[in-house]
Amino acid sequence: MPPRQAPSAPRVGAAAQLQALQQAILTLGFVRPGSLVRRYMPCGKPACRCMARPPRLHGPYNQWTYKVAGRTKTMRLSEDQARLCQEWLRNHKQLKRLVRQMEQLSLRETDRVLGAISRR
Ligand SMILES: [Zn+2]
Repeated sequence: MPPRQAPSAPRVGAAAQLQALQQAILTLGFVRPGSLVRRYMPCGKPACRCMARPPRLHGPYNQWTYKVAGRTKTMRLSEDQARLCQEWLRNHKQLKRLVRQMEQLSLRETDRVLGAISRR
């Protein structure tokens, strides 16, 4: 049987869930925002195959893009760089997912605690 708690105390289950989310965040490595795309592009030289009909574009190129303060930053990456980047991007997505879960859990739990206090 779980220990009895005051209604304004965090539930044991909620506290454990919070701790699990915190632990998961601690295990993440570097987190890199943005996204990675593979693109084929024309170089623009009039005599090049990329300007022929049908065009044979150059690439694929790995391109990292990141929107910051309304401006899009881009960076071209080698295959090795793209592989590394992929892991950091995954970590960033995971971090955002965990933060969202922490927010949802916290909203539920703090609503409950606030409700319990207001009824006193
Ligand atoms: Zn070209």
